[in-house]
Amino acid sequence: MKKENTMTPMMQQYMKTKEEYKDCILFYRLGDFYEMFFEDALTASKELEITLTGKNCGMEERAPMCGVPFHAVDSYLNKLVSRGYKVAICEQVEDPKLAKGIVKREVVRVVTPGTNTDIQALDESRNNYIMCIVYLDDRYGIAIADVSTGDYFVTELSDSTRLKDELFKFMPTEIICNEAFYMSGMDMEDLRERLGITISALDSWYFDDDLCKNKLTEHFHAANMQALGLEDFNCGSISAGALLIYLYETQKNSLAHLTHIQVYTTGAYMLLDSSTRRNLELCETLREKQKRGSLLWVLDKTKTAMGARALRKYIEQPLVDKKEILKRQDAVEELKENAISREELREYLGPVYDLERLITKITYQSANPRDMLAFKNSLAMLPSVRYILEEMQSELLQTLYQDLDPLEDLCQLIEHAIAEEPPIAMRDGGIIREGFDSEVDRLKKARTEGKTWLAKLEAEEREKTGIKNLKIKYNKVFGYYLEVTNSFKDKVPDYYTRKQTLANAERYITPELKELEDTILGAEDKLCALEYDLYCQVRDSVGAEVERIQKTAKAVAHLDAIASLALVAERNNYVRPKLNEKGIIDIKNGRHPVVECMIPNDMFIANDTYLDDKKHRISIITGPNMAGKSTYMRQSALIVLMAQIGSFVPATAANIGLVDRIFTRVGASDDLASGQSTFMVEMTEVANILRNATSKSLLVLDEIGRGTSTFDGLSIAWAVVEYISDPKLLGAKTLFATHYHELTELEGKIDNVNNYCIAVKEKGDDIVFLRKIVAGGADKSYGIQVAKLAGVPDLVIERAKEIVEELSDEDITTRVQEISSKAQVPKRKKVKRYDEVDMAQFSLFDTVKDDDVLTELKELDVSNMTPMDALNTIYRLQNKL
Ligand code: ADP
Repeated sequence: MKKENTMTPMMQQYMKTKEEYKDCILFYRLGDFYEMFFEDALTASKELEITLTGKNCGMEERAPMCGVPFHAVDSYLNKLVSRGYKVAICEQVEDPKLAKGIVKREVVRVVTPGTNTDIQALDESRNNYIMCIVYLDDRYGIAIADVSTGDYFVTELSDSTRLKDELFKFMPTEIICNEAFYMSGMDMEDLRERLGITISALDSWYFDDDLCKNKLTEHFHAANMQALGLEDFNCGSISAGALLIYLYETQKNSLAHLTHIQVYTTGAYMLLDSSTRRNLELCETLREKQKRGSLLWVLDKTKTAMGARALRKYIEQPLVDKKEILKRQDAVEELKENAISREELREYLGPVYDLERLITKITYQSANPRDMLAFKNSLAMLPSVRYILEEMQSELLQTLYQDLDPLEDLCQLIEHAIAEEPPIAMRDGGIIREGFDSEVDRLKKARTEGKTWLAKLEAEEREKTGIKNLKIKYNKVFGYYLEVTNSFKDKVPDYYTRKQTLANAERYITPELKELEDTILGAEDKLCALEYDLYCQVRDSVGAEVERIQKTAKAVAHLDAIASLALVAERNNYVRPKLNEKGIIDIKNGRHPVVECMIPNDMFIANDTYLDDKKHRISIITGPNMAGKSTYMRQSALIVLMAQIGSFVPATAANIGLVDRIFTRVGASDDLASGQSTFMVEMTEVANILRNATSKSLLVLDEIGRGTSTFDGLSIAWAVVEYISDPKLLGAKTLFATHYHELTELEGKIDNVNNYCIAVKEKGDDIVFLRKIVAGGADKSYGIQVAKLAGVPDLVIERAKEIVEELSDEDITTRVQEISSKAQVPKRKKVKRYDEVDMAQFSLFDTVKDDDVLTELKELDVSNMTPMDALNTIYRLQNKL
C-alpha cells in the first residue's frame, strides 16, 4: 500500500486500471504511444521483440516499460492475440489540452483470440469461433459465436465425448467456461496444447441464471426464452448468456450485428469424432496439416470468403436428413446442368468482398471510407446475381433468390455519398462526393476561392513591395505567412509583422493575410468536420440494415458453395448419388476424390463397394502393404460423407444408405497424446468406436491389433469383428483391413462377413499392384517383395527369404482353425459394453475363469512383449487352466 502511494498520479491511475484487467496485457495510451509496464512490459518486449526501457514513476526503482506507436498498433496487437494473450486497450478519453490534472483514460476494447475482428488478422476462409462451455447438472451447455461475422449458435450435450466432437468440429480459438467445467476432469492442458487455444474459467457471476436469461432477452428483443427457442435448454441458455456478457465486456459496443441466435441439436448432423476428421483428411492433411491434399481442397472452388467458409461448414457437418440432402443435390444438379449460368454467377461473385465481416466493421463504426467503397462495389454485383437466380427451379436456389436482397438502396446511398477515390483517413476530408450535400459543396468552393484570393494577395504584395520572389506559404504551426529571402530583407514594409527567422529567409504576417487565413482555415476545418459527420451518418444508416445484409451475405455464401460443388461435379466427372434409408451402400467404380487428383491422368483404378444390413455387413480386406487397402476404405467413407453434404460423388453410380456416424481407426496416430503407447491409443479409439457406434454407423478399421504381439493382436481383431457383426451387439457396416490372414476364416462362419483382397500379380520375384478389389482373401503377404520395392538392401532381402523358409506358421494356423471350428458369435446373456481396460485385456476365449490366470493376465505388460514372449505366456497360462 505504502509503495503505491509514492507513485506518480499517472502511475496510480495505471495500477487501478490494471487491477481491473488482471488477465490482460494493458496497452496504456500515452501521447502517440501505447505503453506497457511491469510484467506486461517484460512479456510484450519478448513476444514483440521491442526494446525494454524503464520509467521513473515515483518508486525506488524504475518501472520496466516498453511501447508501440499508436499508428502501428494493429500488427503488434494481432501478434500478441494470435499467441493467446488478451489485450486491453486503454485510451485517453479526453483532450489532453483541456484536461485538468491527469488525463482521463478508459479501456475501450479488450481483444482476445476468439473476439478479434480485425480482417487482417483473420483467415478469410474460416470462422474465428469463441466457445462458452457450461457444465451444470451433468450436462454441457455450449454457445459458439464468431464476432467477426455475427454467427451465434447454442446447443446442449449430455456427455463429454460429444462435447469433444463439437470442439473439434468448431475448432474455436478461445474457450471460456464455468469453474465446474474447468474442474470437471477434462485435461485442460492437453486441450490447450492440441487446439493451441486460450481457455479461461470466468467468475461465477457470469453464469447467474437470471442475469444470463435477461441479457439474452434484452439483446435479442425477445419476450422470453421461449421466443428464442431456448425454453428447454437451461444449461444452453446460461452458456449463451454468459458468452453474450463476455462479448459485451470485451467489445464494449452494442453488438448490433449479433442479430440471431441459432439453437441446434447435434442429431441434425452426422457425428464425426476428432480422429475421424483427421484420418479422412477433411479440411487438412494428416501429416502436413495443410489444405492441399484434403477433401476441402478438391471441393473448394468458391469465389468469395463467405462461400469458402460455408463450404467448410458443409464438410465439417454433413447432414443426416434425407430431405435436406435432396434439396442440396437438386441445387447442385441444376447448376451443374446450367454451366453457362453457373459460370456467369461465379463471375459476378468474384468481386464480392467479405460482406459478413465488413458489415461487422460497419456496425463497429470502424469501417473507413475505402471499406465502404469495397462494400458498395460488392453490392453492385447483387442485382445481376439475383437476376440469374430468378430463372432457377430448384427449391434451394429459389429460397436463396428470395433471401438475396439486391440492396440497391444502400448501394445507391454509398455511390452518391462517397467520393470515387476516398482516403482511408476519416477526419481529413475528401470523403464526400460533390452534389451530395449543399453545405459541403459551398465550403469546398470557399476553399478553392480562398486559394485564388491568396494568389491575388501574393501578386499585390509583390507589386507593392517590389519583392520579386515573395511567396505565401503554409505550415501547421504558423498557418499562412509571407516568406522573404534575406536578399530582399530591406524592402520589407512596416505593416509586416515578423513571425520567424530562418537562415536564409524571414517569415511575416499581415492583418489582411490573417483575415484571409481565418476564412480559409475556418472553411477547411468546418468542411472536414462536416464531411466526417456525414460519413458517419451514411455508415450508420448502412449499419442499421445489418439484418438484411447478413441474410443476403448468407444467401451469397450458400450460392457460392453450391456453385463450387456443381463445378467440381462437372469437372471431375462425379455422379449424383441416390439416397436410401435401407442401409445399403452400393458404389460402382468409386474413386478416391483426392488421390485421383494427385496422380497422373486417369491412372486411378476405380473399385466397387457394397455393404448392407444383411449378408454384407463386414468386408474383411486383405492384401499386401501398399496395395491400396486404406485408399479403398477411405474412398468409400469419403463418398458416403460427400453424399451427405449434398455433393455429387466420384463413381459411375452410387446408392448411399444414410449413416449417423462415420468412425475410422487408421494406422498409428501421428500426434500421439503424450505418455500413451501406440497400442493404448489404438485401443482407446477402438473402445470409443465400440461404445458409441450404432447399427446405422459406418466403420473403417485399418489394422486393428497391430500395436501388440501377434497372438493378442489377432485375438483382439477377431473378437472385434465378432462383436461388430452381431446385430444384437452392434451390427454396424464395416470395412476392416487386416494383415492377419487368419481372419479370413470368419467368412462362412459368420454369415454377414465377406472377404475381399486387393489383387497383385507376381512377376518372377517381384509383384505388380493391380489396385483392383476382388472377392476372396489374400493368401500371401508379400512383405519381402514390398520391402524390396522400398529399396531394402538385397542382402537383407535374401536373408529374410531364408528365414521365412525356416519359420512356419503352422502353430498359429492349426490353433486358429481349431478355434474357428468351434467359434460362433459368442453368446452373451446381456449386452456388454467394454471399457478401455476391458479392451486391453480382451480375450478371444471368453472362458477364462481361474482367478490366478486372470490376475497374471491383467498384469501383463502387453505392449512391451515380443510375439514369442506372448506365445509362450499364452501356452503357459493355458496349461494352468
Ligand atoms: P495400403 O493401405 O494397402 O498399404 P495405400 O492405400 O496406402 O495401401 O495405397 C498405397 C498407394 O497406392 C497410394 O498412395 C496410392 O498412390 C496408390 N493407390 C492406392 N489405390 C489406388 C488406386 N485405386 N488407383 C491408383 N493408385 C492407387
